[in-house]
Amino acid sequence: MEKSVLQKIEIRQGDITRLEVDAIVNAANSSLLGGGGVDGAIHRAAGPELLDECRTIGGCPTGEARITGGYRLPAAHVIHTVGPVYHRMNAARAENLLAQCYVNSLTLAAAHGVRSVAFPAISCGVYGYPIADACRVAIDSSCRFLKALPAIEKVVFILFSEGDRQVYERHLASLA
Ligand code: ADP
Repeated sequence: MEKSVLQKIEIRQGDITRLEVDAIVNAANSSLLGGGGVDGAIHRAAGPELLDECRTIGGCPTGEARITGGYRLPAAHVIHTVGPVYHRMNAARAENLLAQCYVNSLTLAAAHGVRSVAFPAISCGVYGYPIADACRVAIDSSCRFLKALPAIEKVVFILFSEGDRQVYERHLASLA
């Protein structure tokens, strides 16, 4: 992968709701009406106005993305995307839908003038996607997109656990 693209990728460990980026991505469910995990944390940190705006959207199919304000978050926008439930389909279909989450989120980000965006490990919590496979899809699909559309200056992958962060760092290093 080109150096200019790899330099835009940053891997961190911590809480996505604290990040000072233009947009954070929410691993939402298709109702967009809130849930557990990172979704719950984002709604708690953003405040009730986020749910009010989500209610006006009317849901989001798996693999697609929708954008809202960030309200009380440091990020100006939240991009809600719905990852695949891993065990509901074959691995190839899950991989395709997960890649669509990253590409559609980045497309929406670029359309709204977002220059820095942070992703959690979409589908890797209750949706059961194995972290090593999801990491490959996340980084590879994002890098391909960044190559095609240079408006986005920074993509942060933020992982909750030390182990997940190491998986991401190892994969990124393998691309250099
Ligand atoms: P999904 O339903 O898409 O599997 P989850 O919210 O259950 O989504 O989990 C997605 C990932 O987000 C998991 O790896 C989980 O550890 C991580 N996560 C949970 N809370 C946060 C947070 N506040 N910041 C960053 N990552 C988080």
